Amino acid sequence: MKQSILQIVLDTPLDSSFDYRWQASDESEAMPQIGQLVQLSFGRREVVGMIVGISAESDVPAEKLKSVQAVRHQLPPLSKQWLALCRFAADYYQRPLGEVALPGLPKNLRALTTVALDRGLKKLQQAGVPHDATPIDVAQLNPAQQQAADAIAGATGFAPTLLYGVTGSGKTEVYLQAAAQILAHSENGEDNPSQILILVPEINLTPQLEGNIRARFPGVTVATLHSGLAEGERMRHWLAAHLGQARIILGTRLAVLASLPHLKLIVIDEEHDPSYKQQEGLRYSARDLAVWRAHQLGIPIVLGSATPSLETWHHTQSGRYKKLELRERAVRDAVLPQVRRIDMERDKPSEGLTSILVSALKQRLERGEQSLLFLNRRGYAPVIACDACGWVSNCTRCTSFMVLHKPEHRLRCHHCSLELRIPKSCPTCGNVDLQPLGRGTQRLEEGLRAMFPEARVLRIDADSTRRKGSAQAAFDSVHNGEVDILIGTQMVAKGHDFKNLTLVGILNPDTALFSHDYRASERLFAQLMQVAGRAGRAAQKEGGSASEVLIQTRYPQHPLYAAVIAHDYDRFATSLLEERAQACLPPYIYQALLRAEAKELETAIEFLQQAAHCIEHTGITMHDPIPMSMTRVANVDRAQLLIECPSRPGLQAFLTDWMAQLRQIKTRAKWSLEVDPVDI
Ligand code: ADP
Ligand code: ZN
Ligand code: ZN
Repeated sequence: MKQSILQIVLDTPLDSSFDYRWQASDESEAMPQIGQLVQLSFGRREVVGMIVGISAESDVPAEKLKSVQAVRHQLPPLSKQWLALCRFAADYYQRPLGEVALPGLPKNLRALTTVALDRGLKKLQQAGVPHDATPIDVAQLNPAQQQAADAIAGATGFAPTLLYGVTGSGKTEVYLQAAAQILAHSENGEDNPSQILILVPEINLTPQLEGNIRARFPGVTVATLHSGLAEGERMRHWLAAHLGQARIILGTRLAVLASLPHLKLIVIDEEHDPSYKQQEGLRYSARDLAVWRAHQLGIPIVLGSATPSLETWHHTQSGRYKKLELRERAVRDAVLPQVRRIDMERDKPSEGLTSILVSALKQRLERGEQSLLFLNRRGYAPVIACDACGWVSNCTRCTSFMVLHKPEHRLRCHHCSLELRIPKSCPTCGNVDLQPLGRGTQRLEEGLRAMFPEARVLRIDADSTRRKGSAQAAFDSVHNGEVDILIGTQMVAKGHDFKNLTLVGILNPDTALFSHDYRASERLFAQLMQVAGRAGRAAQKEGGSASEVLIQTRYPQHPLYAAVIAHDYDRFATSLLEERAQACLPPYIYQALLRAEAKELETAIEFLQQAAHCIEHTGITMHDPIPMSMTRVANVDRAQLLIECPSRPGLQAFLTDWMAQLRQIKTRAKWSLEVDPVDI
């Protein structure tokens, strides 16, 4: 009987692979291969694992060696390259391989029954991933776009490129035409059909682009991968990619770990976007993994943005990445909007709106044009308070306030999801006159409706789009001209191509100017440029308004606003990089953050102190353990320890040794390590 020893990884925090025996169920069963899934019992559980090695013998005594129950032969094995990507991610982020490789697969593949898998495979054999095919006209690229598309499609080997193009410069068109060239090329050649991976930051941006791509590439199978798909769908799309049927794969960050055997180009749209960073579990940067993947495969990768991350900008300055530039808007006669500051000390707002902004809104209403008001704070008011005794609506479980949600008649904590009825009177002194303080999108909406009863006002934020499909419906109604004034949080800031929008009002951006987070100004700048970029994307109509962005601020002199007005990312980025160099901050230093949480803060701090002293370290700066700025969330106290090193390999080597020591420490604190942290 055929038999061998399999090294198998499982989705557990245990840092190793496990040996299992395999015996052919009958003579006809094929030998197992690396990258195949297997079903087995682990402890008392039955689980699905992945084969990462095969050998003739094991160090485990024969009587202790268990047998696998079944090898999933129906699924072609994951490739060596894919496993290498997972291994790199596991090593880099200091996680066991199994915790990277298995959660990266659709749930249905890891299910204990293969019913869904078999059904999915059958469906794909019959029909592939469905696509509708109404071809559309393809825009004639302008010379700068053409040059960029040719450069991308013509690149050979690992070629990281920043496509640096102002908002509305037609970056999407460049990606798609470069993709078309590569697909056409492989069609004619003897190679396998090429695959192209396009990553986008947010789910709510994908439908528009997805429709666009399907129309552009009739007959080409397009797969989408994001967390909004139902499990069955997700598996089918994943399989289409894995089997090479899908040629274009459009997805959010999780798609970077998809199995793509014929990958020839990676595109990362809006590469600066924070949502490329996973903020729990394996805290990976999809952008960084994508660059590694392109390097491993020796293929081009395009990072597109109007406001690149400083890391990427730094790489273009050092020459590591090539820079392609699109300086103008693609639509003829569409120009970048004029940006102005409104000094809120001089023009005192009522209902959150200065008189200048109100008259600008009026003008748009009269001309039948759309306006967008950007306020990055959902809810009605961030807190309610009692004037009589000073009571404020603190969350009892977090270091934060309960936010007033008026339409829902609730107080909600945005950190632990605690919900309470709105108290009728002050819980401490009985005063019935509780006041909302500050303004969120709901309150702005209320004020606007009162001010412009005839206007069609729509609010888009996480609360208004909870139901599946409602975000898409909301965006559609803006595109269809059914909305006059759109109110939105960062959900509306990115990517959308609203053709009839000529005014953007930015409310209350100042708080980020004084954040303790050194990345706050980089983010604010990108956010303002992005939201400003929603205005004036079509040519100005005759008798229509010139597109305009109005920023309401108490600090009109702040240099960040001056840079936004000048649409001058270059200078702003260069000065930020200088600051970072002087202050020895990333990208001039490499960081890792050890986090600990416990019922009591002391337990967390104690663990971090032990962690700081459990190892010799040279060339590493170890900061003092401190409570996190929001210390308590859901009745758990949190603390952190930052470490820094001027060399990435130096940091990596240290972390590996350190992790081994950390695992020995006995503590009641829960802890985790983040490499290249972004929220410190
Ligand atoms: P970006 O992603 O750079 O902000 P988009 O890709 O959304 O810009 O393009 C902005 C608009 O310009 C879209 O409406 C797109 O259809 C249009 N567009 C792109 N390229 C061209 C072109 N060569 N000629 C005319 N319109 C174009
Ligand atoms: Zn009171
Ligand atoms: Zn809370």
